[in-house]
Amino acid sequence: MARASLPVIVAGAGPTGLATALSLGLAGVDVILVEREPGLTVDLRAGSFHPPTTDMLVKLGCTAMLEKGIKVPTWQIRDRVDGIVAEFDLGLIADETPYPFRLHLEQHRLTPILLEQIRTRTPNVSVRFGNGLMSVADRGSHAAVQLDDGSRIDGAFVVGCEGARSIVRTAIGSKFVGFTWPEKLLVASTMFDLGTLGFSGAGYIADPVNFAAVFHVPDEGPPGLWRIAYPIDPDTPDKIVMDEALIRSRLKLVMEYSGANVDDFDLVYRSTYKVHQRVAENWHKGHLVIAGDAAHLNNPFGGLGLNGGVHDAVNLATKLAPVWLDGGDHIPAFTLYERQRRPINIKSVQAMSIRNKKLLEERDPDVRKQSQAEIAAIARDPIKARKFLMETSMLDSVQQAAAITLDTSVDADWSGMDAA
Ligand SMILES: Cc1cc2nc3c(=O)[nH]c(=O)nc-3n(C[C@H](O)[C@H](O)[C@H](O)COP(=O)(O)OP(=O)(O)OC[C@H]3O[C@@H](n4cnc5c(N)ncnc54)[C@H](O)[C@@H]3O)c2cc1C
Repeated sequence: MARASLPVIVAGAGPTGLATALSLGLAGVDVILVEREPGLTVDLRAGSFHPPTTDMLVKLGCTAMLEKGIKVPTWQIRDRVDGIVAEFDLGLIADETPYPFRLHLEQHRLTPILLEQIRTRTPNVSVRFGNGLMSVADRGSHAAVQLDDGSRIDGAFVVGCEGARSIVRTAIGSKFVGFTWPEKLLVASTMFDLGTLGFSGAGYIADPVNFAAVFHVPDEGPPGLWRIAYPIDPDTPDKIVMDEALIRSRLKLVMEYSGANVDDFDLVYRSTYKVHQRVAENWHKGHLVIAGDAAHLNNPFGGLGLNGGVHDAVNLATKLAPVWLDGGDHIPAFTLYERQRRPINIKSVQAMSIRNKKLLEERDPDVRKQSQAEIAAIARDPIKARKFLMETSMLDSVQQAAAITLDTSVDADWSGMDAA
């Protein structure tokens, strides 16, 4: 069998598309990466990498992320009023990973590192900014894309990494099964050091109304920024919820637990966004395949979305590269990719992020007390805490996915997982 004559077209230069293009490029595949925007996007989005994701990215050559990021070995679940409910130390799983910490580095600081690796190490990957995908079609023996400059390119395969509104997903004919949460989230950042108030670098704050996530992320240099995400009424116009005084009063609610008094803090950034839980029903068709947010979306409580996108990218590239290089049938490769990534996303990422959000926002005081007591008991017991950390750090899901084969007779575990 012969090597493919057409390149693989990757749509979208977000973290998933860049990681896919880099992984394929390093394996010797010709790639054209098309991105609609004129350069890498700089909006503040994902910022937390779990151990297996750091491992994958370091293996792709992104060692600079270790220098630029903040290592967060412990993370907390807190009650907004009472403070720490449970604290988890990733040192408990240090025998399972060379990176027993969450690495905090915002997405817009990772993507230049990925792009630099592409530019310096993969001459076979061509990156075209300002070149959006308009439409895509499977042509039986290959795929063809129409770009927004009117040009058309043929590709051996098209990988849709163009985020939540993926054109490739629509061309596959896939439903995006799941739901959208009723509230929006507002994310604001400050240089005020929440570490001085006892917050570890990552914290999830439980409260029936003012639940929140708190993350310490790097800025241009030390001491970094603290990002706080909290729920807002989706029907209140942004110009009201973005009012500085209102944001300050909400941030004070998070900071001023147990009588702490915080008056003077700056606001560096603020934005709002809608939150979804969705998984595409089909991840491939013909010569088209999707990855990252194009295939799945989840709430940010657990920091799982981007991590899953990188896991997709690396998984898909290891299957697609041999098909492209040696010929052969791509359908078993895409089928195995979907079997390894889709059920895991539903069983693990969707389930965990929904569970996390429900724990934080619980309104019934008795249920809230009970759930907090349960999580505190897990944190106190090293065996249970280790199991919990294997799950929440995504090490379990990566190991489980790797064990899945094309043999459907061993699939009993995955039954009943049709919708997020
Ligand atoms: C506020 C916020 C906080 C978050 N926090 C976390 C977190 O802490 N941890 C975590 O793991 N996840 C988090 N997420 C989720 C995370 O940001 C996403 O999962 C991640 O961005 C997905 O990467 P992606 O490359 O798949 O998609 P995207 O980052 O959306 O990238 C898609 C790319 O495709 C481009 N594009 C779109 N349409 C086209 C087209 N037609 N043609 C060509 N290019 C196109 C876009 O311009 C973009 O560059 C957060 C998300 C938000 C919104």
